[in-house]
Amino acid sequence: MVREHLKSIHDLIDRCFRCGLCRAVCPVFLEVGQEPAVARGKVQLVGALLAGEMEPSDGMAHLLSRCLTCGLCEQTCPADVPVTEIVLLARNELVSAQDLIRAGKTAPFPAISRWARYLREMGSSPEQPLTAILSLLSQIHGGTWPRNRPHISSKRMLGKIEPSQIALRVGYFPGCAQFIYPRVTRAVMDVLEANDVMAIVPEGLVCCGWPFMEAGDFSAAGKLVQANIKAFKGHDINAILVSCAAGNRVLKRYYANLLGLKGFSAPVYDVAGFLLDVLPGPLKASPLPKKIVYLHSAGLSEDRCRQVELLTKIPELELVEIETSAENCGGSLFFSAVHAELSRTILDRELQAIARADCDAVITDSPACMMQLEWALESRGMSQKVMHLAEVLAEAFGVGRSLSAETQ
Ligand code: SF4
Ligand code: SF4
Repeated sequence: MVREHLKSIHDLIDRCFRCGLCRAVCPVFLEVGQEPAVARGKVQLVGALLAGEMEPSDGMAHLLSRCLTCGLCEQTCPADVPVTEIVLLARNELVSAQDLIRAGKTAPFPAISRWARYLREMGSSPEQPLTAILSLLSQIHGGTWPRNRPHISSKRMLGKIEPSQIALRVGYFPGCAQFIYPRVTRAVMDVLEANDVMAIVPEGLVCCGWPFMEAGDFSAAGKLVQANIKAFKGHDINAILVSCAAGNRVLKRYYANLLGLKGFSAPVYDVAGFLLDVLPGPLKASPLPKKIVYLHSAGLSEDRCRQVELLTKIPELELVEIETSAENCGGSLFFSAVHAELSRTILDRELQAIARADCDAVITDSPACMMQLEWALESRGMSQKVMHLAEVLAEAFGVGRSLSAETQ
């Protein structure tokens, strides 16, 4: 029953020496207080599945669904255990096993299957499941999420730089932000143009696949990633830029590590990595005398370090640290759907930390986190702005809106 890809992570599971440091930072564990909810417990559970000591079951699916794949444990783990990848692979194993069990007419595992099935059935199209996602989030939160925002055409997304000034060419993957937060894609384009970088958004790009990967449906995710790989092929670009945390982890690492696909036609960067590592010359950021909280979105740990590094290069911008365990908004799409109440409790902890920080704005690189936070801050009468990293950069480069201006 156990597949080759799960066998291949045997060594990764063995890295965990059960020190328990992850207990201090895991938002789920801090709420439920049970060992199977923390990284150590989940890794042991997957180890037992791999060793054949446990069989796939509804109970196991429930336990493995209680992970935000936020990676906060990975930042703390002295053994570099890739907890999120282990959890995602195990979810995929359960979904795969479920397909086999269904074929044999035995009961499926609701905790894992519900969300993947919902996205498949309710999405306006498999390529852009955003309608289903927004509809579900609206049900969960009892509010109205932005819907039917205009699509930014590829014509708009072609940079406006004179050919003689072009320093670099990038392929831009705007992801679902182009629908729910057009202001973010505008900010990215503005930042690129301010640095003489020509951006194109190729025809044929689809959803990054993360909503399916998160729910263990690697088959659906793989098809989307292949479509995106194909869309970037044949373009004269130095790099591919992704401005959302979820898309970044799929396009940069998971397409190969978890889906076993061949790579993109150019190296993939998030906004911070691109500006720090690819752009020639020092950053010409202007002073931005504001106090912000930068929130860990569920991305790759190394990207988070680069994002903080980039923000510290903006003169007079004050970054306020909050406790690590409060750095997740509980807003993972899959997690919110399956564990709505727990998601809200985790969000509350983050909101309390934000209130204590007494900041002007909260910064993240995840449109999903932005939605969750905007809704939450507004409903509690809190005045902090929620901004994407690219919006802050646009302002620092003198091409964006003020941190104190209306950001919608
Ligand atoms: S911090 Fe890492 S090594 Fe320690 S118990 Fe957690 S996962 Fe295992
Ligand atoms: S990824 Fe996040 S929710 Fe999952 S075990 Fe690690 S800290 Fe906890």
